[in-house]
Amino acid sequence: MSRLILLGPPGAGKGTQAKRLSTGLGIPQLSTGDMLRAAVAAGSALGKKVKSVMDAGKLVSDEIVNELIGERIDQPDARKGFILDGFPRSLPQAEALDRLLADRKIRLDRVIEMKVDDEALVERITGRFTCAKCGAGYHDKFHRPKKDGVCDQCGGTTFTRRDDDKEATVRARLAAYHAQTAPLLPYYRARGILVGVDGMASIDEVTRQLQAAVGTAGVA
Ligand code: ADP
Ligand code: ADP
Ligand code: ZN
Repeated sequence: MSRLILLGPPGAGKGTQAKRLSTGLGIPQLSTGDMLRAAVAAGSALGKKVKSVMDAGKLVSDEIVNELIGERIDQPDARKGFILDGFPRSLPQAEALDRLLADRKIRLDRVIEMKVDDEALVERITGRFTCAKCGAGYHDKFHRPKKDGVCDQCGGTTFTRRDDDKEATVRARLAAYHAQTAPLLPYYRARGILVGVDGMASIDEVTRQLQAAVGTAGVA
């Protein structure tokens, strides 16, 4: 099992778990959110185009993310497999992915739905912060670094919070999830590749459920 999609609302734990699975399976995490934020940080033409849309909590256009993913999937490290985190997020994106994979004679192995209540998501997102040096994710209440102010992974001491991790924006992102992304669940269920995990459980327990879902218990 090496071609996976993590599907779930903003704050469900996709990034947290994708990083763990990536280490365990030795395949990259492909996050359109990370790619778009890198473009914004670099001040590129693409970054300038998407910044206001992201700040409003809306989805950027399918054309933009389809192209980003198409280029990324062709890089050598993704040849053995990948974990898609935050893509696809709409039916047109799912269809574009199908074409992309068919052209490359690749099959999707599993789509994993991470189920979390909307109320819990707001608390998760407004408490989220990230190590500026290595990208490790933390939470004010649910996942603090072992030593306050020092990253567990790399020892870094600078942390960042996302511009769009404010309550009002989170509500807009949740609305976008329910309107545009949730229709992907029946789309993949109909193909028999959808499995669900309880995203309300602890971070370690979710990892165990994911390992069971992709058949790698004990790897990560
Ligand atoms: P989260 O981790 O909270 O689910 P992401 O980092 O995946 O959020 O995405 C942040 C923002 O980037 C989204 O609100 C949206 O504006 C944009 N974005 C990311 N991935 C996509 C995508 N596949 N399609 C459209 N917009 C996207
Ligand atoms: P997503 O990529 O789906 O938007 P993240 O992985 O960034 O979600 O997680 C959102 C926030 O919630 C982060 O601050 C993370 O540390 C925290 N978190 C992730 N999984 C859990 C969990 N199972 N229980 C409690 N907090 C969690
Ligand atoms: Zn770090």
